Amino acid sequence: MFNYFHDLADRQLAGATLGRDEALAVLESTDAQLLEVVAAAARLRRAHFANTVKVNYLVNLKSGLCPEDCSYCSQRLGSAAQILKYSWLSPEEAAAQAATGIRAGASRVCLVASGRGPSDRDVDRVAGMVTGLKGEHPDVEVCACLGILKGGQAERLKDAGVDAYNHNLNTSESNYADICSTHTFTERVQTVEHAKGAGLSPCSGLIAGMGESNNDLVDAVFALRSLGSESIPVNFLMPFDGTPLEGTWLLTPGQCLRILAMVRFACPATELRMAGGREMHLRSLQPLALHVANSLFLGDYLTSEGQEGRADLDMIADNGFVVLGKGPAGQPATAIRGTNDAGTTPGAPATIRRRGAGTAVAPNA
Ligand code: SF4
Repeated sequence: MFNYFHDLADRQLAGATLGRDEALAVLESTDAQLLEVVAAAARLRRAHFANTVKVNYLVNLKSGLCPEDCSYCSQRLGSAAQILKYSWLSPEEAAAQAATGIRAGASRVCLVASGRGPSDRDVDRVAGMVTGLKGEHPDVEVCACLGILKGGQAERLKDAGVDAYNHNLNTSESNYADICSTHTFTERVQTVEHAKGAGLSPCSGLIAGMGESNNDLVDAVFALRSLGSESIPVNFLMPFDGTPLEGTWLLTPGQCLRILAMVRFACPATELRMAGGREMHLRSLQPLALHVANSLFLGDYLTSEGQEGRADLDMIADNGFVVLGKGPAGQPATAIRGTNDAGTTPGAPATIRRRGAGTAVAPNA
């Protein structure tokens, strides 16, 4: 029997490029169609990533005190959000936090700093941390997320061993001025291109739930596709107190699934990460999202607490997936439970919570 979404998946598997009307059809699908949408998107996910889930771990090197005014961000200029604010972790502290995530199963560590962009001294500081991290954990990927890059900085990071650079487009070009006045969409695009040109794997994604239209979401995802983003984090707005978007609750769990599915249909072979806000917005549908996304952040976000790392690992195993790099694809899901890399026994709590004072949001810079 003809099914629009499975037919769409067939076309994507055959190499078609998702069109705007098709993307909108995914976003505008009904609740009655939701499982069909997920099942069709899951076929693309399985075709490209089998049963693996890539686990990423955030280390917030520098928190708050940013001069930019991104309206979604707890670290923005004038933010009254109750977050931890500090200027640069020591290399030892950064290494200790990264090691915690790696022990818990992370194959990528994301080193993030608030601010418009790094000084050359900041880049040297991060380069030193990366060299140390790579020496200790040569198989772990390192992604840097330091804001808008100036000439030569991406190359310096690449030389130090950085594998990827994150800089999110966040929303459509036409919506960008509504969420930020201190820098432009074009500057963000240029930084992603700069990183890519230096040989860093471009990581760039979006934030849903800021009042954008479905057309804005499609524009943003198509822009990411054109840029060649190799991993796409999808954040769901955490509208924390003390920012202009305080009280903005526009998403439903079903719509979050549709957004993830639309990204999967648009970029079938691209790493798709369910990122900040997944717990509060997907709620009980989080496990279904794993059938569409193939990547997540373990534990906490930059300035807010996620669900317990143990709960994330259980969710992965309970749904028949395995952590990437921790067992062969196709291995029984229980594999990670019996030998989990947190060094804990099954059922024991993983000790990866931090960010004590946070109430806030998602990546950025
Ligand atoms: S998203 Fe980045 S640049 Fe924007 S306010 Fe937050 S830390 Fe600053």
